[in-house]
Amino acid sequence: MGLELRDVSKRYAGIEVLHPTSLDVANGEFLTLLGPSGSGKTTVLRLIGGFSQVSGGSILFDGADITALAANRRPFNTVFQDYALFPHMTVIENVGYGPLVQRRTDAAARRLIDETIEIVGLAELRGRYPEQLSGGQKQRVALARTIVCEPKVILLDEPLAALDASLRRQMQVFLKQIQRRIRTTFIFVTHDQDEAITMADRIVVMNAGRIEQIGTPEDVYDRPNSKFVARFIGASNVLDARSVADRQVEVAGRRIAIGQGEVAAPGEAMSFCVKTHDLELTTQAPADAANTLPGVVRGQAYLGSHRDYLVDVGQELLVAMPPEFNAPVGSTVHVRFAADRCRGLIH
Ligand code: ADP
Repeated sequence: MGLELRDVSKRYAGIEVLHPTSLDVANGEFLTLLGPSGSGKTTVLRLIGGFSQVSGGSILFDGADITALAANRRPFNTVFQDYALFPHMTVIENVGYGPLVQRRTDAAARRLIDETIEIVGLAELRGRYPEQLSGGQKQRVALARTIVCEPKVILLDEPLAALDASLRRQMQVFLKQIQRRIRTTFIFVTHDQDEAITMADRIVVMNAGRIEQIGTPEDVYDRPNSKFVARFIGASNVLDARSVADRQVEVAGRRIAIGQGEVAAPGEAMSFCVKTHDLELTTQAPADAANTLPGVVRGQAYLGSHRDYLVDVGQELLVAMPPEFNAPVGSTVHVRFAADRCRGLIH
């Protein structure tokens, strides 16, 4: 049960912008499509919504083939970034406008509208007009207008992109709470890694018209399966290395043990990733030099809770240290790699 994409592809003018892609979305799941601009996220969302036709493959919902079904016949609804509210209607009128609500008896419609307005936290503002609302409040009205239609799946295309940073964080938590409460499937497009990690049950990482990785936020953050995902998610360094025996790689003439992930055959080039906060700097050369590399500080930035260091070890690394650690630009430092936090990557 749920939504299934089977080998769905999309071509524009002969160019395949979505390569054959298969994806299962369980009913009630919060799924995020994450990737850089142009990676194909909106294309997937539009194909699911029925706003654009597949070039190949099929789309099923709860076992029924909906590939040829028009957008307004699919049990889905979309929240767009521009709220598209009617300026001459109040909150309650905007929410109650849809034909699905109008079709009910007055009492049933009123109950549904009231409930929905309460869910999105707008009960106090029900009589206001859009121009009397903040950006976040308008976004809630747009969401209420979608929820009130009781769709099986809600499609959201970067709905928070227009909001400022702190409001955006509030809305992320709020949207997630609403999704938990109404238990409707949410498919949410974003290019913002933190947003995806905050909200999703599962993240689909897209790159150049393909799915790179599907997993829980923990999976893609802690266990990226490719250099692309490692670079795109979470503050990671991706280093070039050469495999030597026994899960050891060589970087700048020194050996580093790799505790996780895949390693190439001895002698072959490979990469590994390590998070900025899983590296440690010392100013003195450590007595035990295992799994350390010497480097030169090229830059540093104070970020309140920590200090970011750019360190040149032959390749440039970003290292997050406690703010009290202080090594001036140009000084020599020693970078320690915790083996169990280094993850080998072949692809
Ligand atoms: P994203 O949402 O990840 O930013 P899109 O799905 O919008 O990416 O776009 C994926 C690719 O498809 C891009 O290269 C884009 O230029 C192309 N594309 C999208 N819509 C059209 C269209 N209507 N005609 C031609 N190319 C398109």
